[in-house]
Amino acid sequence: KPSPAPDDWSSESSDSEASWEAFYRVVLLGDPGVGKTSLASLFAGKQEKDLHEQLEEGVYERTLTVDGEDTTLLVVDTWEAEKLDKSWSRESCLQQGCAYIIVYSIADRGSFESASELRIQLRRTHQADHVPIILVGNKADLARCREVSVEEGRACAVVFDCKFIETSAALQHNVAELFEGVVRQLRLRRQDCVA
Ligand code: GDP
Repeated sequence: KPSPAPDDWSSESSDSEASWEAFYRVVLLGDPGVGKTSLASLFAGKQEKDLHEQLEEGVYERTLTVDGEDTTLLVVDTWEAEKLDKSWSRESCLQQGCAYIIVYSIADRGSFESASELRIQLRRTHQADHVPIILVGNKADLARCREVSVEEGRACAVVFDCKFIETSAALQHNVAELFEGVVRQLRLRRQDCVA
């Protein structure tokens, strides 16, 4: 199966009949070390080779069946400087998502504060459209090192008008639920973003 180039997915072919079947680009944002790559790898299902393919460094494709319907997500994990290249600048990360997953670590208050800043940056780049945003408190297994309570995470999501979930990539807790939630959010706004 040929891998589409980034330019192909961003073409504005909204009049194409098949366009609503196309994939949705989901961009992971967050401080270094919060677990973005771990979440992306679990999404990709590293062991199940036939279920995913890595199109390019840091971009994972997988088709999920949610509520009896298939949806293909392209998960983009290129926010860290070393993975950025010509096709994925930070600016394009902020502009080209159909949905965003903003990750912080519940054991790192600084990363929670960064998540708020990222939300504000996204508000600037997506003023008119209502892109789904999911705030993720990862490393929920690190209970004894917790610096951000569940209540704070939830309250932040209310203020920022986004969904909220705590996950543990280490324990594979709530990771499938996270990506299924992304699919459901995208379906609610299907017309707004056709990749
Ligand atoms: P990224 O820089 O945001 O992509 O973060 P990584 O996915 O590379 O993870 C950074 C470190 O945190 C690695 O050592 C991971 O094994 C660890 N890590 C990721 N998720 C979790 C988690 O849910 N719990 C714990 N305890 N460690 C995690």
